[in-house]
Amino acid sequence: MVCNSVKPGVECFFMNKNGCQFNGGACHQIVEQCVGCLKVKEFPTGNYCLIFPEPAVKWRTGKCSMATHVGKNAPAKDVQKINPLKASKRAAR
Ligand code: SF4
Repeated sequence: MVCNSVKPGVECFFMNKNGCQFNGGACHQIVEQCVGCLKVKEFPTGNYCLIFPEPAVKWRTGKCSMATHVGKNAPAKDVQKINPLKASKRAAR
């Protein structure tokens, strides 16, 4: 059901006709570690994660598994491809 509390317009599993059923009755704002993640969205009520209702929990035991700015989901740095044949010839010189 679509959220009508802190993240208006976002489809949410915790929303039903009685309102938000998440612990505390609403999503929690992002934490400092989330800054830079593409899953953060700004709403009039604050900055929230589009996936997790309580981002602090995702960082409690390490890196968030869905973070786009750190860990395995982060964009790869420019790695120059090396042709092994040419590299061995270069090393032989
Ligand atoms: S996906 Fe993880 S790091 Fe990104 S905003 Fe959500 S909780 Fe924060």
